[in-house]
Amino acid sequence: MIRSFGWINLSLGYQEEKMPHRINEECINCGACEPECPVEAISEEDPIYVIDESVCVDCEGHFDSPRCIEYCPVDCIDLVE
Ligand code: SF4
Ligand code: SF4
Repeated sequence: MIRSFGWINLSLGYQEEKMPHRINEECINCGACEPECPVEAISEEDPIYVIDESVCVDCEGHFDSPRCIEYCPVDCIDLVE
């Protein structure tokens, strides 16, 4: 008798290491970064703008370097290690 087993999609080995970014307290709320994010990970919060780290893809597949950092006038976006 042939039994069929359902495939369990574990996606093992595909867990790419993402390097999300985080806005620090130096943010001046200029809003320049928000429209530049290709995955809409940035939003205006109180008291400063916030990057959703579960959404940020480090601009991989969109730009050669993090777009938000490029547009931030006060250099307040850090890489989350
Ligand atoms: S690094 Fe790219 S994907 Fe991540 S928040 Fe900045 S602009 Fe968005
Ligand atoms: S560009 Fe920089 S200063 Fe302006 S809202 Fe974004 S993180 Fe804040």
